[in-house]
Amino acid sequence: MEQVDPRRLIPRTDRLLALPAVERARARLSEAVLLSLVREVQQRARRGELAPDRVADAVSAAAQERSAASLRPVLNATGVVVHTNLGRAPLSEAAVAAVVAATGYVDIELDLTTGVRSRRGSGARSALLAACPAAEDALVVNNGAAALVLATTALAAGREVVISRGELVEIGAGFRLPDLIASTGARLREVGTTNRTHLRDYADALGPDTGCILKVHPSNFRVQGFTSGAPMDDLAALAAGHGVPLVADIGSGLLAPDAALPDEPDAATTLAAGAHLVTASGDKLLGGPQAGLLLGRADLVAQLSRHPLARAVRADKLTLAALEATVAGGAVPVGRSVHADPTRLRERAERIAAAVNAPVVPHDGRVGGGGAPGLPLPGWAVRLDEAIAVHLRTGSPAVLPRVHDGACLLDLRCIPEADDERLLAAVHVALAASSATATSPGGSTGGTNGMTTPTA
Ligand SMILES: *Cc1c(COP(=O)(O)O)cnc(C)c1O
Repeated sequence: MEQVDPRRLIPRTDRLLALPAVERARARLSEAVLLSLVREVQQRARRGELAPDRVADAVSAAAQERSAASLRPVLNATGVVVHTNLGRAPLSEAAVAAVVAATGYVDIELDLTTGVRSRRGSGARSALLAACPAAEDALVVNNGAAALVLATTALAAGREVVISRGELVEIGAGFRLPDLIASTGARLREVGTTNRTHLRDYADALGPDTGCILKVHPSNFRVQGFTSGAPMDDLAALAAGHGVPLVADIGSGLLAPDAALPDEPDAATTLAAGAHLVTASGDKLLGGPQAGLLLGRADLVAQLSRHPLARAVRADKLTLAALEATVAGGAVPVGRSVHADPTRLRERAERIAAAVNAPVVPHDGRVGGGGAPGLPLPGWAVRLDEAIAVHLRTGSPAVLPRVHDGACLLDLRCIPEADDERLLAAVHVALAASSATATSPGGSTGGTNGMTTPTA
């Protein structure tokens, strides 16, 4: 008798698309996604990786598991608070609620009393001005880089941006400030040296071609030793004397000083010292959504708002909602993590360590994300075998530990206390998976890359 090609037994596409599990998934997934999911399973069967009578079940399971968004939540056990690879700041509850409320139609550019069009994002603007009274006006754009581009374009395109050689920094992978400024059509007028720049260096460079003076906070490194920079108030006096705007990029977005971060500049102090315009990020130490803040003199903010580029870098309604709620709401996760009580961190770590018979070791967290470089945030970590890391990362929930010196370290600083039980459960599963891999023939001990390098 002639042998039937098993591939002829693979269920047809229309039958698979009509399976009840696929039918239920139609509420979440597009027809194209469902079709490609069906085709993938059929291909596996054609290659002989799956028996034809298992195809329907495999499609049903895949349809149930697949979600329309692929980003997976991660428990951040690295101790790095603003972790760029993990999306920087987690939003506060108030911000999340505001985002959800803003997903539908909202009065983002409308005065409901008069029915007349209003200024976009006035809620976020008011919240920023209330939190930072030193600013006369505020504008929110897409991110910190966009704030800087808008400021240098509007103030100095075709002219010079005077900047210290010590501040020509690379902020994150491939993001160099000098390149960014040059892309706006402004010319960089570098003054001083890498380690020392004096007021007279700035003074010598000012002239009819000056568009603005730019002061950049070197947020991800420190220059130590024989260094000096011109104080902000002296620069401000110089700038005012020449009628030139002084722009300060403070990076991390603190609106007011934070005693725990003594070297981190903040908007209020920088404006009080005489800067005319401050630029900053929304998702670093401010703890909000990705956004760029421009705070300062009303005429300069108005000039920037009117520039055509402002429309290209404007913030969307979800960002504006989250930012307003971040600034006007209570404590944010970033702030809680930076100020976490070391004694409490130790108690939490010891509880988890005791449950899995592991030691607790001192461990310094970091602000990360290009903030407070070199500043340790003293705390504690549960110390596990390095081989556990891969199982933690690929588990559910995914946990990102710090892999360091041959160990897998769990720092609880950035994990909300309410998630301790979920973390412990994930550790149990990872330990079991790791011992299974270690004892299975040919089993590998897993990856070693904890991916904990913070970059802005
Ligand atoms: C992070 C940072 C930027 C870039 O801000 P983004 O929000 O990442 O675009 C610019 N300047 C400084 C000093 C920074 O620290």
